Amino acid sequence: MTRQPLATSLDSYEVWFVTGSQNLYGEETLRQVAQQSQAVVEGLSGLPVKVVWKPVLKDSDSIRRLALDINARDDVIGVIAWMHTFSPAKMWIAGLDALQKPLLHLHTQANVELPWGDIDFDFMNLNQAAHGDREFGYIQTRLGVARKTVVGHVSNPAVRQQVEDWQRAAAGWTAARTLKLARFGDNMRYVAVTEGDKTEAELRFGVQVNTWGVNELAEAVDAATAADIDALVDEYVAAYDVAAELLPGGERAQSLRDGAAIELGLRSFLEEGGFGAFTTSFEDLGALKQLPGLAVQRLMAEGYGFGAEGDWKTAILVRVANVMGAGLPGGASLMEDYTYDLVAGDEKILGAHMLEVSPSLTTAKPRLEIHPLGIGGKDDPVRVVFTADPGPALVVAMSDMRDRFRLVANVVENVEAPDLPKLPVGRAVWRPQPDFATSAACWLTAGAAHHTVMTTAVGVEVFRDFAEIAGTELVVIDDETTVRGFQRELRWNQAYYRLAQGL
Ligand code: MN
Repeated sequence: MTRQPLATSLDSYEVWFVTGSQNLYGEETLRQVAQQSQAVVEGLSGLPVKVVWKPVLKDSDSIRRLALDINARDDVIGVIAWMHTFSPAKMWIAGLDALQKPLLHLHTQANVELPWGDIDFDFMNLNQAAHGDREFGYIQTRLGVARKTVVGHVSNPAVRQQVEDWQRAAAGWTAARTLKLARFGDNMRYVAVTEGDKTEAELRFGVQVNTWGVNELAEAVDAATAADIDALVDEYVAAYDVAAELLPGGERAQSLRDGAAIELGLRSFLEEGGFGAFTTSFEDLGALKQLPGLAVQRLMAEGYGFGAEGDWKTAILVRVANVMGAGLPGGASLMEDYTYDLVAGDEKILGAHMLEVSPSLTTAKPRLEIHPLGIGGKDDPVRVVFTADPGPALVVAMSDMRDRFRLVANVVENVEAPDLPKLPVGRAVWRPQPDFATSAACWLTAGAAHHTVMTTAVGVEVFRDFAEIAGTELVVIDDETTVRGFQRELRWNQAYYRLAQGL
């Protein structure tokens, strides 16, 4: 079987830049439109996804044809549109109706300052985005086209940042549309929030969620060769501060070899199936010797999505967040709200999981250790132990509300953790915005899950753009949130998302 290593980079992607005009202006003006739109594209160079200039669009047929070309190209993950002059918007109906890729409406201008002393009507005719983009905004709204609108000159760093955020969201969307997710075992028994409609997930997000017997994974683990295990153990020794008992020759060296075999088997299974995300279930480990800990931690850090206890929805979020954060410092991980420090005025949340937190959340060298695990009834599992770096972070959960998927995001700040000598797992300690009580009350009111993706690579704007592209509800808890306002938003959303689906 062919193995496909997982790609998480944005390097192979493009977004196309299209400029709207019409034939009315004559060749000289249209030549200037082309030159100046090329200069705008030049101003967007250096973004994580390459922006590619396309010839100026002047009629319905070429607009529709370009939309179909964009749809057909897997490497084109979105389109940026700008109406430098006036482009009568009925010309855009067929094209916008056909377009199936994320759209950014860049409301910009070739010049920054107006040449007040020299301005004449030729200048006015050429530089009329203030006019043409309003016509374009009308038709997008009339057609109900989901898009991001960015306003300002491309030399403004805030404009570039907004375009970058959208590019990252479009890349996350592309990753979801092509994602195959393998579930080993089913959901943890009796748990509600990790359930969901997998058919709807494929329709809404494009993710294929399917289940494999865990013993197929166990067979792949058994197939790991001694030589490959030796090499991987060497890699562990180089990457981590490995506990002496696990080192080659140590009394528990075999446990680390078992953990390495799990990683090799998992990786081969995922690569052979072309999977970008997976779940496990501690209640269904079949012939596996340990609950996969270290292997899952390392695969998440490489870009895979993962959810524990069968939680495929969070696995999708971890994969999408890994792609959206590609190339940035920080990372993305499964996280679980575990326990609180309730000292009044200084409340903190301690998040962890049994084992499965990605070391991409730390820049320190993790410890690799082995400890008993109270549940699962298997051998003691190996795991890397660390605390997430202090700094800005975001946690996002996905709930199936029966008629839609709801994303809930909380802007948080990871803080220094005290020593945790008796808690040998990957963990994070954070303060949520706007304050602990408001955050937790809103989270509970929204029916948001205890499992989240924690990302320290991208901020909430990228998730806002992702939700807009996906047509999915996102409610945000940040420094502007109040419980009463949040409750009202949830009620309005309840009505909106049902109406927006039609009958
Ligand atoms: Mn859990």
